Amino acid sequence: MATIPYKIYLTEEEMPRAWYNLRADMKNKPAPLLNPGTHQPMKAEELAPVFCEELIRQELDNDTPYFEIPEEVFNFYKMYRPSPLVRAYCLEEALKTPAKIYYKFEGNNTSGSHKLNSAIAQAYYAKKQGLKGVTTETGAGQWGTALSMACAYLGLDCKVFMVKVSYEQKPFRREVMRTYGASVTPSPSMTTEVGRKILAAHPGTTGSLGCAISEAVEAAVTSDGYRYVLGSVLNQVLLHQSVIGLETEAALKKYDIHPDIIIGCAGGGSNLGGLISPFMRDKIKGIADYRIVAVEPASCPSFTRGKYAYDFCDTGMVCPLAKMYTLGSGFIPAPNHAGGLRYHGMSSILSQLYDDGLLEAVAVPQTSVFEAAERFARVEGILPAPESSHAIKVAIDEAEKCRETGEAKTIVFGLTGTGYFDMVAYEKYHDGKMDDYIPTDEELEASFSQLPRI
Ligand SMILES: *Cc1c(COP(=O)(O)O)cnc(C)c1O
Repeated sequence: MATIPYKIYLTEEEMPRAWYNLRADMKNKPAPLLNPGTHQPMKAEELAPVFCEELIRQELDNDTPYFEIPEEVFNFYKMYRPSPLVRAYCLEEALKTPAKIYYKFEGNNTSGSHKLNSAIAQAYYAKKQGLKGVTTETGAGQWGTALSMACAYLGLDCKVFMVKVSYEQKPFRREVMRTYGASVTPSPSMTTEVGRKILAAHPGTTGSLGCAISEAVEAAVTSDGYRYVLGSVLNQVLLHQSVIGLETEAALKKYDIHPDIIIGCAGGGSNLGGLISPFMRDKIKGIADYRIVAVEPASCPSFTRGKYAYDFCDTGMVCPLAKMYTLGSGFIPAPNHAGGLRYHGMSSILSQLYDDGLLEAVAVPQTSVFEAAERFARVEGILPAPESSHAIKVAIDEAEKCRETGEAKTIVFGLTGTGYFDMVAYEKYHDGKMDDYIPTDEELEASFSQLPRI
């Protein structure tokens, strides 16, 4: 057997030419989106004012296993893909573990995360439909940046509603988006009806993803030639992100590597859903068995403390209802929560897999995440995004367990991005000003009591 290089790359010829739709192989399909008025499954024509046609088709398709990656999208992928699968030799040595650790690194593009994989696909279908532009929300800013890049490439207009607290704390993210030609509005704003309503009800609020989504949807449906696009949670986004998992699978196969544990951070679930898709397929089909672990922040614990229920995807309750593990659409994580992954809900696909016992989840406190991030940065060189560092934390924990037991397990985790724009959070950690606020049961119960009754 050849020794395994530090970085396993695929050639352009080996890159996947189709996205994989895990729903086609799921025995229990994810629950359908419901119309918030009638509580009936959303039909394509009801979604059409909000979303692009081809993306609706992908969203509603539970049966087609493969969707060919359009040539234009594939060409864009070639500018920054394939992403490397890295053998973390240095981390293994630092941990003195017999475990073999690999990470799939998605941070090698200007947007700094995996989000570009879906941004270019969504922008492409919008362009193909002849639209003028798209609207969206962004929290920490990675999705807005990715979408701005994709829109600039295709000559589409891009309107981003950025959660106000990030808009103020991350001016450089905002400027990257503007460099790529996007307009960026802090949310909640006075430019939409729902924004004005939220501001009237919660004066001085620094916003949330849920609010920004409501504003972006309103901006799309009230502007001619615009549709709304979303960077996570939706089935279509997991479909596009399957490129991460398919590349990982191909890279592992090249060296006959068989993972035991696959770990990813979970915000809305898109990178995790993409990373695990071919492995989950084999697990469902009984071809292979893996432990598949979702890692979430203890301050926003959708899987581990949420309810599996129909809920709104946004605060303004304008979006369809999705069945998912949720903390309630009114849940806003504590303001000291620095580590991203702050969405109240979770992908319907992952929610169903979790409910079926095919996926594990753990919640980790944020100081432990930054501790892991720093350990990783010092030996592997890459400065990880706080979101990604949730996966690092659990990968390290698993590798340390192997040190105790002497087992040489193979661990694969998703390193979704870089953390250059998160230095305020790192600073808080270094100065000892970061704490581990965890919501109380009472707070969660109060939020659950607002869940729609379906
Ligand atoms: C957005 C983001 C995430 C979380 O989103 P998912 O949809 O759960 O993947 C994780 N890591 C980085 C770097 C991100 O930008």
